[in-house]
Amino acid sequence: MLQITLHDVADLRLSDVAMPEAPPPGWVQVRVRRVGICGTDLHAYAGRQPFFRYPRVLGHELAVTVHALGAGVQTVAVGDDVAVRPYLECGSCRACCTGRTNCCERLTVLGVHIDGGMRAFLNLPATHLHHAHGVALDGLALVEMLSIGFHAVRRANPRADDTVVVVGLGPIGLGVCLAARARGLAVIAVDPSPHRRAFASDQRLVAQAIDPGTDVVAAVRAACGGSLPDVVLDATGHPAAMEASFGLPINSGTLVFVGLVQGDLRFADPEFHRREVTLLASRNATAIDFDAVIAALPSIDIGAWVTHRTTPATLATEMPLWRDPAFGVIKGMLDMDASTVC
Ligand SMILES: [Zn+2]
Ligand SMILES: [Zn+2]
Repeated sequence: MLQITLHDVADLRLSDVAMPEAPPPGWVQVRVRRVGICGTDLHAYAGRQPFFRYPRVLGHELAVTVHALGAGVQTVAVGDDVAVRPYLECGSCRACCTGRTNCCERLTVLGVHIDGGMRAFLNLPATHLHHAHGVALDGLALVEMLSIGFHAVRRANPRADDTVVVVGLGPIGLGVCLAARARGLAVIAVDPSPHRRAFASDQRLVAQAIDPGTDVVAAVRAACGGSLPDVVLDATGHPAAMEASFGLPINSGTLVFVGLVQGDLRFADPEFHRREVTLLASRNATAIDFDAVIAALPSIDIGAWVTHRTTPATLATEMPLWRDPAFGVIKGMLDMDASTVC
C-alpha cells in the first residue's frame, strides 16, 4: 500500500509498504481518504518544528473510512466515514482521569509524535473515531483543526451577553470564530491581513473584522463601542500580539491563549491584577469538542475553506508553496483517493 514519509527536512517520499496487521480488539482498520495539511506539517517539512523527529509519516487531520473491525467493536461499522481524534492519551494520569485527555501528561499525537495518516491504511482505537452524521469527507478532515477553536471557547465559557474578541484569523482563529458563532455570540475579530478579514466576514463568522493598526487596545475599544471585551481569545501564536492581548480584557474579563509560542511572554502584573483577569491556556481538544464541530459543520461552506487541493503524487511540490502567505491558503487538502502511485 501507499505510504508518504517525511524522511528528513524537505524530503517527502512515496513508497509501497505492507498493509498493517489485522486490528486488535477494540481497534479498527481504516482507509485514509483525506488529510488536511496544517502549520505543524509545513513546519516539520521546513525543519522548523521544535523537537520533531524524522523520519515521520505526517497527517493528523484525517477523514477515513472504516475498513475492518477488531473484536468487540460495536460503535462503528465497515464502510462508515468518520473523523479521527488523533490525540492518543494514556488514560491514567490526573488530566485523563478528570476528563482533560487533551492535556494528558503522556499525550502522543498521530502524525507528530508517532506516524500519522499519510498512508493508505492504518489501525486506530475505535474510541477515537467520530461519526460523520452526513458530513462529507472534506468536512471530516477539517474537524480536528476546528475542534481546537471549539475547545478554546468551551474553556472561556462565555455568558450569552459577553463581548467576544478573537485575535488572529488563521485557520485556528477562524475555528474559534465558528465556535463562538455556534453559541450565538457576535464576534469581533482582529487581524492585520485584509485577505483573512475578508474571508471571516464573507463566511459570516464574525460581526466585525478589524485591523489592529498601531494600537490594538484602541482599535478593539472603538469596535466594542468604547468598552473593552469580556472574553479575548488569542490565536496568533505570535509573542508581541499575545503580550498585547493582556491589555484587551475588561476588568473581570478572560484571556485565552489558543496559539502558543516557543518562549517566554511578559505582561504588566499590576494591570493584570487590577483587572483580575482570568488567564487560560487551551490545548488541542476532547471528544466533546469533536462532536460539537461535526454538529456545526452543516452551517459552513466547506468548499470555501478548502482553498487548495493536492494528491500524493503532487504533495512534495505543492505543499512547500503553501507556507507563502501569497497563496492565501485557508486549508490545503491531500486527497488520498487520487492516488495512482501504488
Ligand atoms: Zn493541524
Ligand atoms: Zn493521561
